[in-house]
Amino acid sequence: MPYVITRLCTNDGACVEVCPVACIHTRPGAPQFYIDPDVCIDCEQCEIVCPVDAIFKDVDVPAEHAEAIDINASFFRQNKAVVGPVAFETAWQMVQRAHAYAASVGIAVTAAVVDEAGVPIAVGRMDGAAPRTAELAVSKAYTAAAFHLATADLAAQARQPWLRSLVVAHRGRLLPAAGGLVIFDGITIIGAVGVAGGSATDHDVLCCQAAFSVLETGGH
Ligand code: SF4
Ligand code: SF4
Repeated sequence: MPYVITRLCTNDGACVEVCPVACIHTRPGAPQFYIDPDVCIDCEQCEIVCPVDAIFKDVDVPAEHAEAIDINASFFRQNKAVVGPVAFETAWQMVQRAHAYAASVGIAVTAAVVDEAGVPIAVGRMDGAAPRTAELAVSKAYTAAAFHLATADLAAQARQPWLRSLVVAHRGRLLPAAGGLVIFDGITIIGAVGVAGGSATDHDVLCCQAAFSVLETGGH
């Protein structure tokens, strides 16, 4: 249930500063800011800071502002291209590229590629990688897809009450720890990659970055 900005907005931008997933946007000349309903994670931070009480949860929007739900969604519909998720062949190459990097530095990891909804497309556990890394890698990828953010950017906020309550709401599938990166096609998210098993946190991030080399070399 996303939040919605109504026409009460005075365009001061205060909500943009606090949104952890950067889903509040506008364009020059527009009368207000808008929230992307596909990205909003219901964290309430924008509602708390809005000086004019212009923001509501969609189920709580007053009747006189009901049109705001469609106005917010339409703003993003007009600006997004329709693209599919990462193709399996690309996803599998990304997993293999992450494995190759891991092997080169002497570690064994699981790498996972998920679609934009966090559903796995390809998962590979290297020989020697701990069994639990399979679940951790998928969780990191799921988290990056859900937040539209590198999971390392969430790690510092892991103790924040809003994030902890979201972890519970997502039944423990959210893992705000480094090692998950978002895959974009232009400005549209088409998936995410997650890696677990490195002996240092940096290893997981570097494996993710190695996976992205597939996209740079035309695998996507
Ligand atoms: S509820 Fe949270 S995620 Fe949604 S728009 Fe507001 S600050 Fe962003
Ligand atoms: S904080 Fe409120 S008034 Fe300011 S831009 Fe966001 S919705 Fe508009």
